[in-house]
Amino acid sequence: MADAPDDALGRRKFLGGMAAGTAGFMATPQIASAQDPGRQAVPSDVALRVKALESILVEKGMVDPATIDAVIETYESKVGPRNGARVVARAWVDAAYRKRLLTDGTAAIAELGYGGGQGEHMVVVENTASVHNLVVCTLCSCYPWPTLGLPPNWYKSAPYRSRAVIDPRGVLREFGVTLADDVQVRVWDSTAEIRYLVLPERPPGTEGMTEAQLAALVTRDAMVGVAKVSPSRGGAA
Ligand code: FE
Repeated sequence: MADAPDDALGRRKFLGGMAAGTAGFMATPQIASAQDPGRQAVPSDVALRVKALESILVEKGMVDPATIDAVIETYESKVGPRNGARVVARAWVDAAYRKRLLTDGTAAIAELGYGGGQGEHMVVVENTASVHNLVVCTLCSCYPWPTLGLPPNWYKSAPYRSRAVIDPRGVLREFGVTLADDVQVRVWDSTAEIRYLVLPERPPGTEGMTEAQLAALVTRDAMVGVAKVSPSRGGAA
């Protein structure tokens, strides 16, 4: 959890850079698209009220935006994606499970007790030494909530949604992932019906780890495809 503020800062920088010259992420549907009922053009009443409250509190110096980011980050990447991390760790240690996961993601994820809720079909795509998968929703913000929790703001931002398709390697570089030229990048566009989960590569040097230890290494970003899994999380369990 110690890395949350830095992480959030990085996100702000990333969004700040990408938002230039675009409509900006504030104008995209946010809370209202949780169920994807709709691809409405304006934020919901609740989203607008939350944003207004946050702006006033920040303006009056009553809350620090970094603190808000840290709290959100906790739910987004420390709490939410734990289900997905367990799925990934199981696939790393159990070859038969991995095969089932890649064949029928919905059923294999349900084996661990996750999924459903929104009726979406889960497709799991595997990163290898020669293929890197990246997930986006170009239309709105479709995201595998049961496995990854809350979608991060950058995922819902207009710049990410457009640039992930136009320049996936550039986007990956901004997230700190530089791919060799011979690595193929596959971009998966989520919909209300089909949600994608990336099965990241198991990092080297983790052969002796237990399934639970492996799950602790797996980040939300790695399962969206904007990061690789590192063999250690620098004490941030
Ligand atoms: Fe969507």
